[in-house]
Amino acid sequence: MNDFTTELKERLEEIRRQGLYRELRRVDSPQSPGLEINGKPLLNFSSNDYLGLANHPALKEAAIKAVKDFGAGSGASRLICGSLAPHHELETALAAFKGTEGALTFSTGYAAAIGTICALMGKEDILVLDKLMHACIVDAARLSGAKLRIFGHNDLNELEDILRWAKERNSAGTAGRQPRTLIVTESVFSMDGDIAPLREIVALKEKYGAWLMVDEAHATGLFGKHRRGVAEEAGVSEQIEIQMGTLGKALGASGGYICGPRALIEFLINRARSFIFSTAPVPGAAAAARAAVELVQSAEGKQRAEDLWALVERLKAGLGRNGWPVANVRSAIVPLIIGAEAGAVAAANALREGGIYVPAIRYPTVARGEARLRVTLTAAHTQKDLSALMDALAPLPHPHHSKPQPAAADA
Ligand SMILES: *Cc1c(COP(=O)(O)O)cnc(C)c1O
Repeated sequence: MNDFTTELKERLEEIRRQGLYRELRRVDSPQSPGLEINGKPLLNFSSNDYLGLANHPALKEAAIKAVKDFGAGSGASRLICGSLAPHHELETALAAFKGTEGALTFSTGYAAAIGTICALMGKEDILVLDKLMHACIVDAARLSGAKLRIFGHNDLNELEDILRWAKERNSAGTAGRQPRTLIVTESVFSMDGDIAPLREIVALKEKYGAWLMVDEAHATGLFGKHRRGVAEEAGVSEQIEIQMGTLGKALGASGGYICGPRALIEFLINRARSFIFSTAPVPGAAAAARAAVELVQSAEGKQRAEDLWALVERLKAGLGRNGWPVANVRSAIVPLIIGAEAGAVAAANALREGGIYVPAIRYPTVARGEARLRVTLTAAHTQKDLSALMDALAPLPHPHHSKPQPAAADA
């Protein structure tokens, strides 16, 4: 044991030396714009609860009712001890919402990605990923054993070069089944808040006979006329083989989903190991997510999305006036790139001293030297919350300041 802990302490020291040490901060309040950490009230600009549903009465009531009707736990995996009604109701609601033949839910989005990619792809196949893909897709790609090709972020020329090569290779023919190419992209990128050119990617995948999986983790509930996601907004939902997302962000609950043709859902029930070999999510989570899917489609859901976009526009205008480079996209994720890891941590600490909670995002979540403050807004923030954030950001040093000022707190 001594050797073991000594070794781990050395490894931790190395993490600290690189400015990459992370720790948990206990929160003693619900997920909402106001957080309490160590007895200190903080304004929360870190959450992916974009529509402010995590603490919404409709979701809480749905979860409580499901606990009363179906209990706290789910007993086993859905194939082993029966598949509880709340899961089926959620999947029916998701398929109707997304306009697909079917839906399958997993305990997390991470599990959905791993289960789906590993079920579909083997070592003869080719996986083509955007350079900024989320860790769950990267891990799934590695675990699947498929040949991995990365294209530059949103770089359609590079994507086309890879697809041309892949088509040639796949048609060279092997013994077993036809090798396949699967492109995976996020629709809204989690740490940059920018958007994939889905229409162009769909055109390329059709041209070269590839399949497409789109991770709408940061778009479901926000984009498109019916808030189904960027695929709806771009008008390409029908051409995407696999639509993936999480129930834990704008939908305010927990879990992951895959939407697509019925054959895909049946195939995953038979082959997705993270679905088959894992206890079903608790009924309360499924019921809360289902309530969220309904709420997003209601007049209230529409209003919440509009409130969020109004806040985003105001923040971006304010940052622009202040000299921060702001991307010309509409997204609830507004990254403020600092660069050095220590600088980002210092900035986050300074904000926290002033009562504002914004996380510093560092390697390995983003590339080294691209550390940033990741500001997220939610429909539950008020104009007053936003003013407090903008006042707190104004004095921070950033690339466009003529006279950088040192951050107030130490790293
Ligand atoms: C959060 C996230 C996931 C994982 O979803 P969870 O339900 O949190 O496991 C997948 N993809 C992206 C892009 C994400 O940001």
